[in-house]
Amino acid sequence: MWTLLLALLAHFFKGREPRHERTLLAIKPDGVQRRLMGDIVKRFEGKGLKLVAMKFLKPPVALLQQHYIDLKDKAFYSSLVQFMNSGPVLAMVWEGNGVVRTCRRMLGETDPADSAPGTIRGDFCIDIGRNVIHGSDSEESAQKEISLWFQPEELVTWYSNTEAWVYE
Ligand code: ADP
Repeated sequence: MWTLLLALLAHFFKGREPRHERTLLAIKPDGVQRRLMGDIVKRFEGKGLKLVAMKFLKPPVALLQQHYIDLKDKAFYSSLVQFMNSGPVLAMVWEGNGVVRTCRRMLGETDPADSAPGTIRGDFCIDIGRNVIHGSDSEESAQKEISLWFQPEELVTWYSNTEAWVYE
């Protein structure tokens, strides 16, 4: 009896699990200058992901140094920070099931030369130092990056009417 009830409850809630995984994406200064923002945002919207926050800013050097802290010993670290600080960036938080992995696949490889056509880096860029967009590489780094770039009150929780058409 209890087993049946629990099984029924589990079935009922299966399609209603929270879809709260989030990732940080940032269209880099080259993507902004090349007027690629609309094309790129359209891909994530079309996929069925939900936008939770967006801001257009010239990121401060201190933020960028922290953001790329894991690369601090790389030869390109300072030029990367300088480049990211050179112009506005479109920083965004997107939400959905498996969003970190999905977005990384949609971005392509770090080096555009290794990125398949159909991915953002495969379609829009050539050089590793001008690869148009950043995307968190794990759920752990997504959480760190989101709290570095956004205040909690900047993250908008909202119900999307299309959810039942995106998720089974
Ligand atoms: P990803 O952005 O794909 O997560 P990384 O975290 O390894 O890649 O590197 C961060 C950024 O540093 C890359 O997106 C790229 O812009 C830059 N970068 C990585 N490797 C190189 C390199 N060998 N030369 C110049 N820039 C690089």
